[in-house]
Amino acid sequence: MEFMFDLHCHSYFSDGALSPEDLLARALSAGVRVLALTDHDTIDGLERLHAAGRDCDIRIIDGIELSVRWKKYDIHIIGLGIRPNDLNLAELISSQKDRRIARALQIGECLALCGVKNAYQKACDIAGHDRVGRPHFAQVLINEGIVPDMKTAFTRYLGDRQRAYVPTSWISLEDAVQGIVQSGGQAVIAHPLKYKLTRTKLHEFINDFKMVGGVGLEVVSGEMVVTDMQELARICLRFDLLASSGSDYHGDKMSRIALGRQRQLPANCVPIWQKWSVN
Ligand code: MN
Ligand code: MN
Ligand code: MN
Repeated sequence: MEFMFDLHCHSYFSDGALSPEDLLARALSAGVRVLALTDHDTIDGLERLHAAGRDCDIRIIDGIELSVRWKKYDIHIIGLGIRPNDLNLAELISSQKDRRIARALQIGECLALCGVKNAYQKACDIAGHDRVGRPHFAQVLINEGIVPDMKTAFTRYLGDRQRAYVPTSWISLEDAVQGIVQSGGQAVIAHPLKYKLTRTKLHEFINDFKMVGGVGLEVVSGEMVVTDMQELARICLRFDLLASSGSDYHGDKMSRIALGRQRQLPANCVPIWQKWSVN
């Protein structure tokens, strides 16, 4: 039987619904044998995940999902196998945290102009921390009865060029990839087809990504159609990239597929875990 990997998921330390302990329980019951927790711009959940998984038949990979700004695009880079106690990485995360809070405060101000009072505080209450992102604001808009669902929150308020859209000044691609690499990790482009990049732009991005030390591409990410997977597999071959796979699970309400339930990597890919000592 295929060894089951899930190298992309979120706990409530970022915008996931579950605690690291609950995430681990889900992973175990789903048969996941290698799990990477990749919270957005934080590694705060890793210690508890390790503690919970200590005596279990599962390998925990230390991960993170860093947002970067590349040209006018916000792109997500996954770090796998990072050293959580790396000082340079800690500095990068702290800078990212400041940027995230600054943006969240600005989104709160935009929403105030739309008649939503104290949106930042409400988003923090929902998240249970102050590093809130757009999904938390979307939940505020739903709770206030302003929009019916997540999707509308983005198309009417929080998405690109909408009333409460605030462009971010995330860390650079170079800083993110080098931060990951210097802390012993491998850098992977998360969900490459979600950025609405033209193929030319995607290829340009991949070249820049490789130039600064990136090695992987998420070929399977959450729910996928087969043709997209095949295209990403071809891109891996063409650019000599390793293929990664994850559910991008955020919780049952927020994700359509469960932990470990993403499709298998196409057979022509070289998996990112090829040289890991897990099998
Ligand atoms: Mn997320
Ligand atoms: Mn992402
Ligand atoms: Mn994610």
